[in-house]
Parts: sequence; C-alpha cells; structure tokens
Amino acid sequence: MTKVLVVLEFAYGKLIGVTKECLTAVKGLGVETIGVILGHNIDELALEATKYGISKVFKVDDPQFEGVNILFHTRTVEAIIKQENPNIVVAGASLYAQEMMPRLAARFNDAIFASVKSLKIDADKIEAIHPLFEEKLFVKMEGDLNKLNFVTILRGNNPEVEPDASLTGEVINFSPVVDTKDQREHFIEEKMAKVSVDITKAKLLVSGGRGVGTKEKFSIIFDTAKALGGEVAASRAAVDAGWVPHDHEVGQTGSTVNPDIYIACGISGAIQHLVGMRNSKTIIAVNTDEEAPILEIAHFAIIGDLHAVLPELTKHV
Ligand SMILES: Cc1cc2nc3c(=O)[nH]c(=O)nc-3n(C[C@H](O)[C@H](O)[C@H](O)COP(=O)(O)OP(=O)(O)OC[C@H]3O[C@@H](n4cnc5c(N)ncnc54)[C@H](O)[C@@H]3O)c2cc1C
Repeated sequence: MTKVLVVLEFAYGKLIGVTKECLTAVKGLGVETIGVILGHNIDELALEATKYGISKVFKVDDPQFEGVNILFHTRTVEAIIKQENPNIVVAGASLYAQEMMPRLAARFNDAIFASVKSLKIDADKIEAIHPLFEEKLFVKMEGDLNKLNFVTILRGNNPEVEPDASLTGEVINFSPVVDTKDQREHFIEEKMAKVSVDITKAKLLVSGGRGVGTKEKFSIIFDTAKALGGEVAASRAAVDAGWVPHDHEVGQTGSTVNPDIYIACGISGAIQHLVGMRNSKTIIAVNTDEEAPILEIAHFAIIGDLHAVLPELTKHV
C-alpha cells in the first residue's frame, strides 16, 4: 500500500490550517498515512493528530526543538524517511516546508512537486497540478510512486480535516537527530501579530473595493456584513487607501478565501483579487460597470450604485 508521511506543522498549540488541508487531500488518496511532528511539549498535539486518520505519529519532543531550527528538523525528518520508506512526503506550502522540503528532496535526490493545488494517485503514478501566472495556466506533473516524492500543497484548495474521536493511532517517540554543525540559527521569541479578523473561516464575506469611495463610506460594508451575519473583506485598493486593515485583504498579497457567499462591492475583479476568492461557492457582484471583469466569474450580479443597492438588501433581512 502507498505510504504517505505528512509533516505536521503547528502554531500556538494548534495544527495550522494548511496542515489540516493536506490531511484532507491525503485522506482522499486511500493510502496509509503516517505523520511527524517536531517541537517541545507537544504530547497533546501528537495525540490530536491521531484523530485525523494518521495511523502512526512520530513525535520528536525536545527542548532543542523549541521554536524552529529548520536544519535540526530537516535532519530528523530525513532519518524518519529512511526508517519508514514512504512513497510520498507531504507538507503545506508554508515558509517552514519551503525551507525543509527542497533540502530533503536534494538529500534524497528525488522529485519535488512544489506548491500544488491537487494531488492524485493513479496506479504507480503520482499526479499533481501546479498553478502558474495567478491561475491562468495549470501544469500537470507526474511522478513515479516507486520512488520517493516530495509534495507541498497550497492553502485554500481543500477543506480542513475534521477530527474523528473514534479514530485511534499510535504515537511513537522518535529521538531527535541533531548535528551541532546545523546550529546556525537560534530561536529568540515568537510574537503573535494582532489580527482583528480571520476572513478565511467566514461563511459569508461582504467585500469592499475602491468603488466604495471613501473611508467614511466604507462603513456601509461593515453595516451590510453585520446585517447579513458575515465578515468584512476588501480589495487591496481599499486596504492601500487605509479604509480597512490589511487582515481583511483578499488576493495574491492578502488571504485566500472560499466562503459560501462572497459579495464583491465596487471591486473590478483584477486577477490578483480573483485568485484569492474565485473558489467562493456563490459570488455576487455589485458594480456600476456591466463590463467589469468580476462579472465573468460572478454567479449573480447587480448592476448599480452599491450605496443604493446595499441598503435595499439589508432592508429585507
Ligand atoms: C503584485 C500585485 C499584487 C496585488 N495583490 C492584490 C491582492 O492581493 N488583492 C487585491 O485586491 N488586489 C491586488 N493587487 C491590485 C490589483 O491589481 C487591483 O489594482 C485591485 O484589486 C483593484 O481594486 P478594486 O477592484 O477595489 O479597484 P478598481 O479596480 O479601481 O475597481 C473599482 C470598481 O468599483 C466599481 N464602482 C465604482 N463606483 C461604484 C459604485 N458606486 N457602486 C458599485 N461599483 C462601483 C467600478 O466600476 C470598478 O469596477 C495587486 C497588484 C499587484 C501589482
């Protein structure tokens, strides 16, 4: 049976979203899933991971793994790969994995499929889709499952795996493999950025763009989101104008979102915006311009001034 090793990444005592998305992607492959988690005081996290369908979780718990020394982590994951011989090693396309996975691929002299949207297994082949040019072009890549393959999966393409309390798995203590010549960096401290909202989790987003007009007028977006029970999102133009903080931004330099409903108000639909919201289940555009590019992907459109349309909408809630 094909064996997949998932590198489990966490922050502030929780597995991060992209790791949970990787676990959903791997679950759909019908493979044996094992995992590795590296850090300090991570008993609960390792146990939690067994509730996500991982049969064996290798726990590397050591004070030297407090914070991230990527070279220590890499050397230890290398040792687990040598011991377990997986066909595929998967991680989220995070900064952590982007440092670790190419190093591992180079050490094993095997293939890496970096920043892919989806992953499939077909007989003895692995197939991955990598988007290019803000998803204008998709590259299909194939690898040999009889060899080792490294894969990093982009955020926002799979739902996060849900825990299943009835699942059981084994937690195995694995000794860290530390080489003092790897000690090139020292962890100093970890600081949480102040985030006012997590728009990636919202089911309904009311998103405002330059067409809203001014910072004062942007309150209409907050009022509409509140009335509809959603959160506020924005285009970069609205963020750059200082109408709303950056954690509301959707797109290439903002967040990738896939809510049930995305209402784009006064947003033209530049490609850098679309890449962050095009997977929303229902897209509603409110725009004065019936030729705005956002209409090409919108399921519904209201052609008109958002300052007239949105109050009409909330009147009926
Ligand atoms: C490297 C790079 C990265 C970028 N990353 C991002 C990103 O992550 N996210 C992002 O959003 N952008 C990003 N951009 C910017 C992007 O290219 C666009 O400039 C930006 O998305 C435009 O924002 P907008 O749609 O709000 O404004 P505009 O393009 O100016 O569109 C305003 C829209 O409002 C409509 N409108 C005007 N008045 C009204 C009204 N009263 N009622 C209804 N509609 C009205 C207009 O018809 C128009 O369609 C990036 C650009 C670069 C170069």
